[in-house]
Amino acid sequence: MGRRFYGNLGLGRRDLIKALGAAGVGFVATTACSSAPTNQAGSQATAPAASPVAATSPAADTAALKRPDAENMTPDQALKLLLEGNKRFTEGKTVHPRQNRARLAETGADQFPFAAFLSCADSRVPVEEIFDQGIGDCFVARVAGNIATPEQVGSLEFGTLVLGSKILLAVGHERCGAIIASMGRITLPADPGKIPTLVPYIKPAVDTVAAETKAKGIAEVGNDVELTVKQNAKNQANALAKSTILASLVKDGKLKIIPAYYDLDTGKVELLNEQKQAWVTSDHYLAMLQGETSVA
Ligand SMILES: [Zn+2]
Repeated sequence: MGRRFYGNLGLGRRDLIKALGAAGVGFVATTACSSAPTNQAGSQATAPAASPVAATSPAADTAALKRPDAENMTPDQALKLLLEGNKRFTEGKTVHPRQNRARLAETGADQFPFAAFLSCADSRVPVEEIFDQGIGDCFVARVAGNIATPEQVGSLEFGTLVLGSKILLAVGHERCGAIIASMGRITLPADPGKIPTLVPYIKPAVDTVAAETKAKGIAEVGNDVELTVKQNAKNQANALAKSTILASLVKDGKLKIIPAYYDLDTGKVELLNEQKQAWVTSDHYLAMLQGETSVA
């Protein structure tokens, strides 16, 4: 594995991990349900004697599903892998790649996730499943409403700058409870605890869509919950892009940040084309990445 350098810091990956401190690294990685990287170069990973790892048929790990290391991948290649995985998922052709004991040994000592996510905590949006990816592939920050809180931004800065993810999707989803609650359509308990702390992050999307609805009428605007979820995904992607670390990676061509929408009924992930202010389907984007068409 080659030595990598990050931005203008002049630090290699392991130097940076060392500088951050093992405790801090472990905390961030644990938060995102990823294996903690080690600063001991060459240490051997040992698979636990008994672990709940799904069986993968030898045929499943085909050459087509082998992927280059994240550090040698472009953002478009990373996005293509995700869209191909989601296509397999929606077509019932999942292969559950890289979920075997060999993968535990590969990733036990270090990790090189190629994709990072800001997604909802909703039980119906398991990121690795819907993109048909495996252990060590995805660095996932999940929180209700997929909101870019400082903790989530910090986690994703770590996943991209330090661990090298090349694509960052801000994924909202159909019928999101956090969005519906922020629209005032769910009655919270008398003591709502910390639930209201989610709302300020989502409120701008609620206000934007409410203003559109008022101006055009609900019949013209359509499903305002879906529109609010999509607007929120865009807002959170924009918030991520304001991180100086993430912005620098984007500027250097090492990262793309894209808002997306997950359909609970079809399992399909839809991408948002920022330039056109319109929604572009993942199929269209996949075709573009494969050189079959272009986003006009
Ligand atoms: Zn949700």
